[in-house]
Amino acid sequence: KYILAIESSCDDTSAAVLCNTEVLSNVVATQEIHRQYGGVVPELASRAHQQNIVPVVHQALAKANIDKKQLSAIAFTRGPGLMGSLLVGTSFAKSLALGLDIPLIEVNHMEAHILAHFIKDQDTQRPEFPFLGMTISGGHTQIVQVNNYFEMKVLGETLDDAVGEAFDKSAKLMGLPYPGGPLVDKYAREGNPKAYPFPKPKVEGLNFSFSGLKTSILYFLQRETQKNADFVQENIKDICASVQHTILEILMDKLKLAVKQTGIKRVAIGGGVAANSGIRSRLKEAEETMGWKTYIPKFAYCTDNAAMVGIVGYLKFLEEDFTDQSAAAKARYAIGS
Ligand code: ATP
Ligand code: FE
Repeated sequence: KYILAIESSCDDTSAAVLCNTEVLSNVVATQEIHRQYGGVVPELASRAHQQNIVPVVHQALAKANIDKKQLSAIAFTRGPGLMGSLLVGTSFAKSLALGLDIPLIEVNHMEAHILAHFIKDQDTQRPEFPFLGMTISGGHTQIVQVNNYFEMKVLGETLDDAVGEAFDKSAKLMGLPYPGGPLVDKYAREGNPKAYPFPKPKVEGLNFSFSGLKTSILYFLQRETQKNADFVQENIKDICASVQHTILEILMDKLKLAVKQTGIKRVAIGGGVAANSGIRSRLKEAEETMGWKTYIPKFAYCTDNAAMVGIVGYLKFLEEDFTDQSAAAKARYAIGS
């Protein structure tokens, strides 16, 4: 079965063609326009999606060497995300499915991040059910209990900023360019994680909060640069290591609590922050010290991409879980709703 998948929830326009669980193509047009603004500008994102969607879909079909007449269904991200962005992918998918007279499948973006682990062409193993899925990205921070493909329960999520935002905003305070997450990671590798202790937020249960950390970093940097104007430049590695250490402690504390509460020791992470070298080594460590089994998909399937929408599309296709032309984009769209 050939499935065309379309993702346009935020600032990446992506289209993929899957043959069952195998990805034949996965084209992503990342919108560079937002860099100069230091964050995603919704109006510009939606306009860029409009410009990108046709060429991106064409490329995905061409790379897969598939004619659109061979498609069995079209899957698209219905939400959650930016309304203007979602509308582009949703309308495009609906019109194409109508034109080709093939089934239309709606996909929840957060479920797609989790089910990305089931895409075939990866070295990593598929997690067995039940497992804990943690999605950590620029827009989301969520721990989900995954009992089956479509039986998921959100155990906790962020009450304010996402973890990727915490990385990016901290980086911005240090004068690093957007998105700063990868740079913080790079400097952190050479710094002392205990150099500057930052307080961890006190949030009950499995929810997260990252906005307080940003504020304490701001005050800390203001205080230090008053004493020494070159404080940041001179200590960038130690500051990054300390910030990253605090963020990782927050993530690991919650994961440990989730494991304790559920008794599930299989932990599968995804989202752009899964690229972080620190979180990767923490998970490896947890395998050795606590007997967890951990899973990270290929990086291309961690950041926003249509292949993960395609795998959900395929799984829903098997169940004939189709939608119709009335499916409207949903900016807020909870897992399992
Ligand atoms: P969404 O939340 O919808 O997935 P997004 O496009 O903001 O949207 P991703 O593309 O999944 O999210 O991830 C981007 C985020 O990941 C950015 O915040 C970026 O700084 C962060 N990031 C990427 N690499 C690293 C890294 N090595 N260390 C820390 N953060 C990183
Ligand atoms: Fe995403």
